Amino acid sequence: MSTRTLFFNGRILIDSGSGRHEVPSFADSMLVEDGKITAIGSNNEVISSGIFPNLEPRDLKQQVVLPGFIDGHMHLLLLGQSLRKLDLKNCKSVEDIKSTIKEYAAANPDKPSIQCKNWMHSMTPNGVTAAMLDDIDPRPIFIDASSQHSCWCNSAALKELGAASMPDPAGGKIHRDAKGNPSGVLDEGAMMSIIWPFQAISSSKEDRMEAIRAAVREYNAAGYTGVVEMAMDEEAWDSLVTLRATEPDFPLRVAAYWLIKPSLSLEDNSKQIRRALELSQQYNTATTPDLRIVGVKVICDGIIDACTAFLSQPYAPADSPPPIWEPEHLNQLVKEADSVGLQIALHAIGDAAIKMAIDAIEKHATPGRRHRIEHLELASPEDAKRLGELGLTASIQPVHADPSILTEWPRLLGKDRCQRAFAYREFADAGALVAIGSDSPTSPWMPMHNIYVATTRRSARDVDYPQTVNKHFKLGLCESMVAATGGAARSVFAEERAGSLAVGKLADFVIVDMEWDANTLLKAKTMETWYGGKQVWSSVDVDNIVVKI
Ligand SMILES: [Zn+2]
Repeated sequence: MSTRTLFFNGRILIDSGSGRHEVPSFADSMLVEDGKITAIGSNNEVISSGIFPNLEPRDLKQQVVLPGFIDGHMHLLLLGQSLRKLDLKNCKSVEDIKSTIKEYAAANPDKPSIQCKNWMHSMTPNGVTAAMLDDIDPRPIFIDASSQHSCWCNSAALKELGAASMPDPAGGKIHRDAKGNPSGVLDEGAMMSIIWPFQAISSSKEDRMEAIRAAVREYNAAGYTGVVEMAMDEEAWDSLVTLRATEPDFPLRVAAYWLIKPSLSLEDNSKQIRRALELSQQYNTATTPDLRIVGVKVICDGIIDACTAFLSQPYAPADSPPPIWEPEHLNQLVKEADSVGLQIALHAIGDAAIKMAIDAIEKHATPGRRHRIEHLELASPEDAKRLGELGLTASIQPVHADPSILTEWPRLLGKDRCQRAFAYREFADAGALVAIGSDSPTSPWMPMHNIYVATTRRSARDVDYPQTVNKHFKLGLCESMVAATGGAARSVFAEERAGSLAVGKLADFVIVDMEWDANTLLKAKTMETWYGGKQVWSSVDVDNIVVKI
């Protein structure tokens, strides 16, 4: 006979609308059986809903229970790999970066290369070169920008990549000096075509599986039970499929978008779409609902800080670069992917890229498919409206709107344009489906940090940071919770199974020690994470481990 667990005396979030002024509704009790919720309501309602042999009662002691978080945009293998890299996030200057790497190199003499993460362009406002790193250590040094849109290499790393003999890949750039030699930075399409594949093949499949396991552990600990993976490729997919086959209790539901790498050949683009289609026919809601390919991802432009986002007007200090995809190629791709039933996710940050992306979907895609625009950092008011009119998903990452990392924006964009930054309120008011994600590993992935920035527009990274970012664009607390759970589920047609706590839904939930107040979210603590009715993470276990050590 199956075990039933009765969770009672809690504050279990139910029936949350997605409006701005929505107030939460809480149930006291929830009955879980065979991985699903079979009753939810007041203590009396749930207890009177049946006779329960084998009942395991569980007193929630008035703690808050939320649906398991679903990260609306993240990168699973990249996150797992990044967990092993040297973190440069606290560095403020080139000197800081160099001394941090030097110390790490000395402490890790056996590593064949030195892999770093979280370099921000704002730490090195005068630019960077390979030579700046060459006196640290003779081994190859790879430094990922926190955005994942650039990699800074020393000369040994450039040599290992073979960058000198490589042409610039489509949509990407290998920066070169006056003599034409690679000078140390690879951007955009070069990340997708050179750096990520290099990192993937430099590790074994077992290594990649271990990296994914580590990422999943981090995600369960943070309160996630699902993710929308936003740049799936052969290596990551192969590792994930094997993991799920060998570990049936794999505790994360994955809906993935297949990354289409930019190419100058229309036929090559079609080939990539056909591969995504082939996989989605094998791995879909009917066959493998917890590991599926739902669509394709296209990176239309870069990021503001590197002046690679596609803008309608030049940057203050530089021209606006062209988009990574020419409209002709993008239109063709949208048409083809939509015609075979794939969902489409278009990364678009600059206002011109956002317009181009929405134009492509408006002209060439079928309404109702929940196609989506990723990031939407500098949308015009007209395009904010079109998101709703066209039934698109606004896939937003509030942690990218943290004011403490936007210090370069006024210089690059001018004050006026900054007033359009992260116009979430307009997206929601226009009726777009809002899905919140973290874009990890480009940003911290704690869901409450994300929701704190969404609701207060203050910094979660630096709590004393005095400035806010366009506070009038903030989202409500309920609204944000829904966007980080049900919104993300709905964006990939998973709302029948997950994303909210209701009878018949999967028992994916998180027990949180928190107050229902946006201003105190950074103090919220994930106590337990439950996946399909099983506890997959508990802060008690962690505390015990700490005690044992
Ligand atoms: Zn991303």
